[in-house]
Amino acid sequence: MKDIRIGYGFDLHRLKEGRKLILGGLEIPFERGLDGHSDADALLHAIIDAMLGALALGDIGKHFPDTDPAYKDVDSRVLLRAANELITQKGYYVGNIDATIVAERPKMNPHIPEMVKRIGEDLKISPNRISLKATTSEKIGSLGRQEGISATACILLFEGE
Ligand code: MG
Repeated sequence: MKDIRIGYGFDLHRLKEGRKLILGGLEIPFERGLDGHSDADALLHAIIDAMLGALALGDIGKHFPDTDPAYKDVDSRVLLRAANELITQKGYYVGNIDATIVAERPKMNPHIPEMVKRIGEDLKISPNRISLKATTSEKIGSLGRQEGISATACILLFEGE
């Protein structure tokens, strides 16, 4: 029987003035953006961590360290494609993704179809294998005060091509 692996990822970045808001490989119009060494795309980072976690390959910081100038302001889609290359080399492919963005503002739903399209292109899988959801934090806690945006992702990897 072919191997099946589950992976889980979580990420959170702080919202900051003077940064672009990039989520799901997409620039979203907003007055602040996520702060980080890379483009700080919390959704793609959660997905990458889930992919790496499924194969017990460590985490995103191990593969793409934030101390490496090569990753300064890097487009996280580049990292997503590199993570996909890694799991392909190990003999696996992404079966499906189920991910959730937690953001008080801005509204994510209008942007989800384009995020799904881009992630599908990067992972070379059909959009119907990618579920992206968005919720608020009900104005509770740091996310509710719009101090940051977080994302979680679950992934199944299948052995084979
Ligand atoms: Mg991150």
